[in-house]
Amino acid sequence: MSRYWSDIVHRLTPYVPGEQPALAHPVKLNTNENPYPPSPAVVSAIRSELGETAESLRRYPDPTARMLRETVAAHHGLKVDQVFAGNGSDEVLATVFQALLKHEQPILYPDVTYSFYPTYARLYDVAYRTIPLDDAFQIRIDDYAQPNGGILFPNPNAPTGHALPLSDIERLVASNPDSVVVIDEAYVDFGAQSAISLIGKYPNLLVVHTTSKSRSLAGMRVGFAFGDAALIDALNRVKDSFNSYPLDRLAQAAATAAYQDDAWFRECTGKVIASRERLTAQLTALGFEMVPSSANFVFARHGGYDAATLAAQLREKEIFVRHFKLPRIDQHLRISIGTDAECDTLLDALKDILGGYVG
Ligand SMILES: *Cc1c(COP(=O)(O)O)cnc(C)c1O
Repeated sequence: MSRYWSDIVHRLTPYVPGEQPALAHPVKLNTNENPYPPSPAVVSAIRSELGETAESLRRYPDPTARMLRETVAAHHGLKVDQVFAGNGSDEVLATVFQALLKHEQPILYPDVTYSFYPTYARLYDVAYRTIPLDDAFQIRIDDYAQPNGGILFPNPNAPTGHALPLSDIERLVASNPDSVVVIDEAYVDFGAQSAISLIGKYPNLLVVHTTSKSRSLAGMRVGFAFGDAALIDALNRVKDSFNSYPLDRLAQAAATAAYQDDAWFRECTGKVIASRERLTAQLTALGFEMVPSSANFVFARHGGYDAATLAAQLREKEIFVRHFKLPRIDQHLRISIGTDAECDTLLDALKDILGGYVG
């Protein structure tokens, strides 16, 4: 604390990201990173952007990330003016809060969801109301039929992994024409249906994507919003009042190349999905209960063991999983899907800790 702090700094509750341990070979299953590297085309694109002398770095990058947005627009069957690019989807979401979610009425999001939403709401002074998930940890669309300044949730939801079908999303967007519905599809590529196909039909739908999970580029910080050109225009107006160059040259080159190598993307997401099904079966055999996951993580609890203690015991073995000290979910662990070898290391450690318990 300091007397130089602004009022808002006193009121903030910053988001706490998952630990990035300073260990040579941790089994890192705590931040939903992809266990596979990005496409080799990404490496070539970065090398070619740098060249021998990194000459191009003298100059500012394209403030509109035009080539990247054209590539991603073509990939999703959208027009380039329906695509906004930002420095990670967290920054995209921050822009969305300022540009589209600050109104008279509170915005609505689930009580159990991505914990950055309340952080942004406080930072930007956006009123919000949380809507409880049902007892099966699922979003009930009908609960959102109330006056609101916007609706926001991930699909699949985080940290539960549960996905709603596209028909539910469409029903929500269609029944809520007076404010924007933001679907954060950070995990959609691991088994859910994207709402991008609805964008031409609904001017109040915004879909947010990231390259951090399914495209293995968490270290590059590239995210997108897709929606009606008028919504994208609002995001650009905020962006150009904050930072004209959110994406550097290397990030633009890397992300463009990642979208040009669809085969690599499909192979890696396919492997993660197969490992998720395998890990789910094996954790179930150890007595864990799980919400069926459509994401690159599972959300598991064990009736016989305290989740925080389990996470701490795993950590001693240099295995990192995520535990949230939050209401309703403090007995769950969110476990990112690693390679099969990493999942096996986790399972062996759990068998050790649980003392051979077989449920
Ligand atoms: C990981 C995640 C993000 C943030 O992704 P970045 O692009 O790395 O900032 C956004 N929303 C949800 C639900 C996430 O899990």
